[in-house]
Amino acid sequence: MTEYTPIHELKGIGEKTEKLFWKLGIRTVGDLIRYYPRAYDIYEEAVPISEAEEGRVQTVTGAIYGKVQVSGNRAMQVTSLYVKDLTGTLKVIWFRMPFLRTTLSRGGVITLRGMIVRRRDVLVMEHPEIFYPSGKYEEKRGTMQPVYPLTAGLSNNTVMKAVKQALESLPLEREPLPEQIRLKYHLAEYNYALRGIHFPEDKEVFCHARKRLVFDEFAAFIYSLRKLKEESGRSENRFRISPSGEVERFIKELPYELTEAQKRVWREIEADLKKNLSMSRLVQGDVGSGKTVIALLALLTVAYSGYQGALMAPTEVLAKQHYESITKLLEEHRIPFQTALLTGSMTAKEKREAYRWIQGGEAQIIIGTHALIQEKVAYQNLALVVTDEQHRFGVRQREIFAEKGEMPHVLVMSATPIPRTLAIILYGDLDISVIDELPSNRLPIKNCVVDTGYRPTAYRFIKNQIEEGRQCYIICPMVEESEHLEVENVTDYSAMLQEELGNKIVVGCLHGKMKQEQKDRIMEDFGEGKIDVLVSTTVIEVGINVPNATVMMVENAERFGLAQLHQLRGRVGRGKYQSYCIFMTGSKAKDTKERLDILNKSNDGFKIASEDLKQRGPGDLFGIRQSGLMNFRLGDVFQDAAVLQMASEAVSVLSKKECEWLKKLENHTGNSSVIL
Ligand code: ADP
Ligand code: MG
Repeated sequence: MTEYTPIHELKGIGEKTEKLFWKLGIRTVGDLIRYYPRAYDIYEEAVPISEAEEGRVQTVTGAIYGKVQVSGNRAMQVTSLYVKDLTGTLKVIWFRMPFLRTTLSRGGVITLRGMIVRRRDVLVMEHPEIFYPSGKYEEKRGTMQPVYPLTAGLSNNTVMKAVKQALESLPLEREPLPEQIRLKYHLAEYNYALRGIHFPEDKEVFCHARKRLVFDEFAAFIYSLRKLKEESGRSENRFRISPSGEVERFIKELPYELTEAQKRVWREIEADLKKNLSMSRLVQGDVGSGKTVIALLALLTVAYSGYQGALMAPTEVLAKQHYESITKLLEEHRIPFQTALLTGSMTAKEKREAYRWIQGGEAQIIIGTHALIQEKVAYQNLALVVTDEQHRFGVRQREIFAEKGEMPHVLVMSATPIPRTLAIILYGDLDISVIDELPSNRLPIKNCVVDTGYRPTAYRFIKNQIEEGRQCYIICPMVEESEHLEVENVTDYSAMLQEELGNKIVVGCLHGKMKQEQKDRIMEDFGEGKIDVLVSTTVIEVGINVPNATVMMVENAERFGLAQLHQLRGRVGRGKYQSYCIFMTGSKAKDTKERLDILNKSNDGFKIASEDLKQRGPGDLFGIRQSGLMNFRLGDVFQDAAVLQMASEAVSVLSKKECEWLKKLENHTGNSSVIL
């Protein structure tokens, strides 16, 4: 068996299962062993029932008490029983598992591990894992079980078994790093790390393994970045772009005055467009600092000089939003340019039409997603590419444009403020501009951290805001098990909320598994105020701009990285109204509250993430992504800032051969999110 062996050669993977793996981007054994767990289940000591705590996954051991009941309807059968220990009794329920009645009716002592929730004011353990008889728990106690990202129909157990088999059957990989580098940076051996990331014996092994793999991931990335820079360098500016009086007029006509920071950054960009070498500039500005209008000024300047400009967004929803708001602005300000939209979900016919417009030069401002860099698009005279929220893209896009023979100016917009030292490593040769000021009409957002007991009050508050004409977002509880459940969860939550708020209020719902058209329609309706409350998963996170929205409520806030919560918070407070953020937590633990309180004290995304780290230490961060920056597979730019520095240093002394080897290991998998 080699890394290139198709996964159906593994025992237990038939044709049907193989297709499910394909959905996850896993085709070969090599892909599989680099499909890392998303989180780990730690099988902790059982707690006395009286100490069961809402909002946590816990283990209890007790005697089955009374009868096992099955109730509910056909679609949703609920099996319930009570367990009892010396300290108390706990109700336990399972969904859609009526067959449990037969097994469990024998009674006796059982160990259960599951989420504790509050239902009609009593604590209930929901859908726990069963260890029956209870001695079975002993084997697992203290271990860390990998939790893989899944797709409907594929169980965690199936993935786990396949990974185990693959790791056992594959020959060991050659260690790509020289000994002295490993010693210097305290890095684990490669094969040890690979096994350790899937099946760590304990937290220490996990941390050690993870650090090594993060190092490799960063090193491969930095190496590719440097290579790209060496090969392409900065190209000559082939375009003749001059400042336009029309753009000045547009700025004067805006309903607001640009902030000093916006003006400064705009001057820097304008100057770049005239230099001998192409622009490569990163604009950093916190959420709501007004980056879009700056991008538009650049696009307009280019268009007035007779060239095309493109704006690339990370999601369809966002591309569509930019397209609509920009098209509207151009009309309002009587600007004679045409816009074109190009996204993956458009029909073949619509795409052909867009290609024609772009190729024929009819459209001067082109807005879209990744589709903008697909092979079929030929530009007429592309002088500028703006990428919004670059961290979702990677660097490859510049290379693609270069391959197409275009060497446009590049402007990158990012909402994640990172310290200069890190930015230099991550963005290589980009110049950096910072919009370090928010428009002055903004009122500071009021935050609160509350527990679930406060929910009725929160709903009343939301209702009041809506009655005043405002709109709200609710980010739904996260579901760990599967995407499938996540959808169900958002839908159920919306239905419950609709009932709670009454029919006068329109509740909409949005999740990642919806068809694109459906998502677009919902976002459009929300933008136009036809939906009052939008219940959503985190798909809403990036860039959405609805200034009339004033409440952001996040359920299970304790399960998010603080930097991510900060991004979510940035969806409100974008207009002239007072805005509010409600972080709802299922956990009463004191440290949770302390951690979330950091958000109250700071508005600086980077500071928030580093504080978070300081309080919790890296070992506690399983499954929590801090930054989402650049979408590394394992590494997190904030959390692993130190490793990023190490990798940057190391790449300078490693040989080309060693770097290529690292890169080969990293890029092996089709699942890699670092596009290089
Ligand atoms: P972000 O930097 O997060 O992308 P946007 O560009 O979406 O922020 O801007 C957020 C909102 O602020 C938009 O509604 C925009 O029209 C508005 N805006 C931008 N600049 C200013 C300004 N100088 N004064 C007032 N409002 C502004
Ligand atoms: Mg934006």
